[in-house]
Amino acid sequence: MGYIQNDMKYLRANEAMCREVRACERICAKTFHKTEDTSYSAIRVSQRSDGSMKINVCNQCGACIDICQTLALKRNKLGVVVVDKQRCIGCFQCVAFCPQEAIFQHPDLPYPIKCVACGQCVKACPQGALKIDETNLSAEAKEIATLF
Ligand code: SF4
Repeated sequence: MGYIQNDMKYLRANEAMCREVRACERICAKTFHKTEDTSYSAIRVSQRSDGSMKINVCNQCGACIDICQTLALKRNKLGVVVVDKQRCIGCFQCVAFCPQEAIFQHPDLPYPIKCVACGQCVKACPQGALKIDETNLSAEAKEIATLF
């Protein structure tokens, strides 16, 4: 492990405030892939069987960093885990491994899709369900990351 650091920038989602508007998915796809096709989004909204909302998005825990054989996953200066597309070989082990199920694969892309905490979705969400947090990772996320 050893990749956890304090003062990381990450997107915090409040599922209880989500009303399934999906503006976050659309703006994410548009910002990074110039399309409103939400299958390109790095944030995914769904509904659990009990009707509650589920938001899958990277919390920058960094657990994936260790499993990337080509060292394509690394933290930038803000603590955000980013994909180095030059190094990525498209094995998608990170997608299968992510404990948050928050790294995604798209059939038209040779690299994984993950949140870089840019904050565009925060501005787009009319419900105020998303925010960028620049303090420490949640205790829960740290616990998950230290398991690997
Ligand atoms: S898809 Fe790319 S970033 Fe993910 S584990 Fe494979 S090489 Fe690393």
